[in-house]
Amino acid sequence: MSEKKMVFFFGGGVAEGDVKMKDLLGGKGANLAEMTRIGVPVPAGFTICTEVCTDYFANERRFPANLDWRVKAALGQVESAMDRRFGDPDNPLLVSVRSGARVSMPGMMDTVLNLGLNDQTVQGLILQSGKPRFAYDCYRRFVQMFGNVVMGVEHHNFEHLIEKAKERLGKVNDVDLSAEDWMGLVAEFKGRIRQKTGRDFPEDPWEQLWAAVAAVFNSWYKPSAVTYRRLHDIPEHWGTAVNVQAMVFGNMGEDCATGVAFTRDPSTGENGLFGEYLINAQGEDVVAGIRTPCQITLSGRQKNQSDQPSMEETMPRLYRELVGMGQRLEQHYREMQDLEFTIQNGKLWLLQTRTGKRSAQAALSIAVAMVNEGLISRDEALLRVEPQTLDQLLHPTLDPEDRVKSQVIATGLPASPGAASGQIAFSADEAEQLAGSGVAVILFREETSPEDIHGMHAAKGIVTVRGGMTSHAAVVARGMGRPCVSGCGSIKPHIEEGRFTVESAGRGLVEVKRGDWLTIDGSRGEVLLGRVKTRQAEMTGDFATFMSWADETRRMRVRTNADTPADAKAARLFGAEGIGLCRTEHMFFDAERIVAVREMILARDEAGRRKALAKLLPMQRFDFEGIFREMKNLPVTIRLLDPPLHEFIPHDHKGQAEVAAALEISEEDVRRRVDELEEANPMLGHRGCRLAITYPEIYEMQVRAIMEAACRLVKQDGFTIVPEIMIPLVGFRSELAIIKKRCVAVCEEVMTETGVRIDYLLGTMIELPRAALRAEQIAQEADFFSFGTNDLTQTTLGLSRDDAGSFLGAYVEQNVLQQDPFVSLDQTGVGQLVEWAVKRGRDVKPKLKLGICGEHGGDPASIGFFERVGLDYVSCSPFRVPIARLAAAQAVLRGAMEKARKKAKLDKNKKRKCKGD
Ligand code: PEP
Ligand code: MG
Repeated sequence: MSEKKMVFFFGGGVAEGDVKMKDLLGGKGANLAEMTRIGVPVPAGFTICTEVCTDYFANERRFPANLDWRVKAALGQVESAMDRRFGDPDNPLLVSVRSGARVSMPGMMDTVLNLGLNDQTVQGLILQSGKPRFAYDCYRRFVQMFGNVVMGVEHHNFEHLIEKAKERLGKVNDVDLSAEDWMGLVAEFKGRIRQKTGRDFPEDPWEQLWAAVAAVFNSWYKPSAVTYRRLHDIPEHWGTAVNVQAMVFGNMGEDCATGVAFTRDPSTGENGLFGEYLINAQGEDVVAGIRTPCQITLSGRQKNQSDQPSMEETMPRLYRELVGMGQRLEQHYREMQDLEFTIQNGKLWLLQTRTGKRSAQAALSIAVAMVNEGLISRDEALLRVEPQTLDQLLHPTLDPEDRVKSQVIATGLPASPGAASGQIAFSADEAEQLAGSGVAVILFREETSPEDIHGMHAAKGIVTVRGGMTSHAAVVARGMGRPCVSGCGSIKPHIEEGRFTVESAGRGLVEVKRGDWLTIDGSRGEVLLGRVKTRQAEMTGDFATFMSWADETRRMRVRTNADTPADAKAARLFGAEGIGLCRTEHMFFDAERIVAVREMILARDEAGRRKALAKLLPMQRFDFEGIFREMKNLPVTIRLLDPPLHEFIPHDHKGQAEVAAALEISEEDVRRRVDELEEANPMLGHRGCRLAITYPEIYEMQVRAIMEAACRLVKQDGFTIVPEIMIPLVGFRSELAIIKKRCVAVCEEVMTETGVRIDYLLGTMIELPRAALRAEQIAQEADFFSFGTNDLTQTTLGLSRDDAGSFLGAYVEQNVLQQDPFVSLDQTGVGQLVEWAVKRGRDVKPKLKLGICGEHGGDPASIGFFERVGLDYVSCSPFRVPIARLAAAQAVLRGAMEKARKKAKLDKNKKRKCKGD
């Protein structure tokens, strides 16, 4: 150890470290060195490297030999750079001692500020500042911090003494205490330290320094740091570096200031300094809200209509210097920076710079601007925007100013993003009626079912008491682009009475009645009382430019899940390249159709079913024509009927009586059929292609409708349509073979009847583990596979997608699962089945078309996986299409980076081997 370099100086334009040395210097140390290197004025200091920390722990918490003189030498350099001396009673150098691991562990380890103060040097600080009160305030803060962090005396001891002093002196606030008062308290603090520890507070600055360095190392094992490391997978052996840096003060007088600034506006992305500052203040004053900070720029001041002068006005020279510094840092890091600065007696110091956090809007415009400025490449720009954050740009959002005036009364899951206000309706019919009269409506339900579709469509937003992220409400709302908050368990519904109550923090019991105004924020999962203004999304300008780069980069196609021409149209605006899943059952709930659907289900025999299906045929043909037209010549995958039939029949007496009346049969007959259809596990029951094995005429009608619609458009309007007919829930090759034979026969019939020959594809969903495992056999009957990962997750994990919400939280909390597997694909479990099926399917048919249409098709992490296994496309709800486009592009870029990394490693190994030979 003694041979290695342990201490790295930075200051006065030179540094022994740089930004690449994060492992050794920690993130903070490496960054301070880098800033110094590029000529940014950083208070001088030095970093004791992480290897010293590991050595310290390996040697029973003893410092390595030779550290002593190295630290002394480095501190000597700091003294020269700052023109002050450590421990000098006339012109003392004070330092901060801070931790700094490889990755930031905010607030987890210890810090000591103002180190070097004692009864003598405090006099020097008075000389430097001309402010005894300031000096004694610094001194007492130091004794307090040192006493706590280094000597282990609990905070309340000092707080108690301050309170007692104020009482004695008849003063209310800390700011009322004078220099003499603080001086008295310093002595009291020292007395308390002696009393609690049996040791004296060390007056010797060197003793203070070594004790503080040891304390910072020791804080690597503080319980909070250990927990943080465990949660963030930070290895224990990394250790922390210690940064010792000269103190600078922004509160020494009117030529001093402190502030924070971004190099671009973090909410809009606009290029130019953006931030706040305070004259004669320290950082804490800003954080504690004791004083209101002022704007740095004049334009910021004008925007905020502030009567306080900006830094641009009060300190024009330093302002220009700061602007230049910001530009230099941005050029150097090629990223928007978030700076902390202090001005001491007219000199600007930068204390920190890091990548600035920003809104989605800003992230996108900054990425585009930086490409245009030649600062970064398009690939880098694409990787800098989190795909999920695009969501904020696609949906209306709540006006932030208006939002603060309103109160959140309940929270649930952010089931479908966007925001909306409306008058509350308690049933789908009521929502439809109200919306019909031009009123904005929020539909409130305990949970939704397919019967509520028309109400969901009519409403601006949906709230449910029960249900998870893939509940019916969530899936359908996302598909429709309606904001939805699901699973608001704290709401007590009284649907029949047209009201609900909720216990709300700050307001007690709140009652919301039919017609009251409610606002929902589906991106956050919040329900607010009253009406809040919203802002519309824009998809032109930077957004369009950025998305065009993503499109040029990605390999996979992005389709959408859409059931109506309106959804298809919306999806095309978002850039969908086809429909990957059209769920035909949603069309069955239309008021006109449901009667015929019920007639079909309640029919006693095949003849009765065929009669009812004949009524549905023209309606379905009309639907498909609409969708084909809307999608122009893009591919459209239509899934044949999937849900169990009982979902189409009401389960309450009133509803059943209405069905009986409409179909002119007895209520008894309806009830009997409902009983017959009842299943203990409908999700594993008579649904999907199993319906077609028992009632082939249903799929026959649907295939006929698809083919008639396609042939008509091809013949009459010159379309080029290749319909993709998809069979759900297949588990056996023979199952698919039987159904396929019937479908092909219908297709041939229609083509003969219409005199038009078109290509069509007949494929299957892979939704059951057996289907994935037997992909080689199933592929022989299929033109394509579409992975239905909602059901595949449900059936592989044996986890009900409708009920898991109630306990999944505990699974995620206890780390059994990292995330909800219905939101992000369980890559090591369900993913294995997908990978297997892809490989086996393509072994038999190398050109087998492969896609995914479960909810995971819109999840960026899952999209990365689908790229790796080589799917041809992903399909997701319309509003997720841009997210998927970007995620697919990022997946390509990350794949290429990974490949390059592997190649470099291989080349390195080869070289090493050659040398060995
Ligand atoms: C699926 O199971 O993934 C799927 C897309 O079908 P659905 O959600 O309609 O069951
Ligand atoms: Mg399914």
